[in-house]
Amino acid sequence: MSNLKSTEQMKTEEIIKNIEGRMARTIPILRTPKTVQILLVRQTHDYTILRTEETRELNIAVTPTSISKPKQKARVVFLASKQKAPETREFASLIKEYYIKYKLSTEAKEQILDCEIKDRLCRACPRCALFGAVVTDQKSPYWKNRWNIKHRIEYSSAFSLETYELISENITFNAVTESTQLTEQALGTIESVSPLANFPSIISLNSPTWKELVLVIKNLLRCKSYGAEGRTKGDTVNYITGLIFADEEVVTSLEYVLELEDKKGTEDILTSTYEIAAKYGQMVASTEDLKILTPTELELFVDAVQKTPLTEEFINGAFKDSFGFGRTIEDMV
Ligand SMILES: [Zn+2]
Repeated sequence: MSNLKSTEQMKTEEIIKNIEGRMARTIPILRTPKTVQILLVRQTHDYTILRTEETRELNIAVTPTSISKPKQKARVVFLASKQKAPETREFASLIKEYYIKYKLSTEAKEQILDCEIKDRLCRACPRCALFGAVVTDQKSPYWKNRWNIKHRIEYSSAFSLETYELISENITFNAVTESTQLTEQALGTIESVSPLANFPSIISLNSPTWKELVLVIKNLLRCKSYGAEGRTKGDTVNYITGLIFADEEVVTSLEYVLELEDKKGTEDILTSTYEIAAKYGQMVASTEDLKILTPTELELFVDAVQKTPLTEEFINGAFKDSFGFGRTIEDMV
């Protein structure tokens, strides 16, 4: 057993070394072609409301049934903005939690502690450096100049693997007046997604550093609340199913769901995902920089990331990187 374990450890170390070597050393001022695609399945574990604000209906899209079957199929849409909003908030709270825990005092400390989405962004923390920051008012307490940070994390809308009819449910609720918490109106209904609906989804990172990649993966595993309305929690769990390193985006969420549909019930999700990634990997412009983790490599890697402690050194380093990035831009303006 101990021999087996050390082989596994060696394999893990080898994967980490390979991936670390592919990551940007510092946060680049200009985007580079380096792209990391994180493939995942978002699975609802509670009634989740996926709709745009005004209507009481779910967002729906009509797509082909699968890559090989052109017959139409209605799917629920998990809009990119509905994925990004809770994840950017979770990321901000994750890094701030550790910043406070370690009593760090990097430059721009006050602004970092004050950083708030979306009108008081500090442009100095790892959240601002990765998710972007647009300044709305001219005066910043720390920076003299006005400049924005373009996001290096990209979301796209995800489509349910299951058909809309199968996973949509009307749930009734009592209208409650917020201030008094009293039930005042008659029952209403809201259309929601039932538990155990699956949304294959892809997040693309542009030239991330090693620390950013680790933080994003940890954040995905930590973030569990999506959808509108405070009264239903909308528990959703993210399962990471694939990782692609390339000089471009290799596969889209729509391709991913349509390909998975064809593979339904044939293999496990990690194997299916790997085969899909490999198929689209054959079409990239330059294959020499392409790396797709095999199911075994992926499991070892995600496990290693989960076990990577967010030490003081790690967090301090992440803040030094993001502050240094802001400093460089400020000096250039
Ligand atoms: Zn910030």
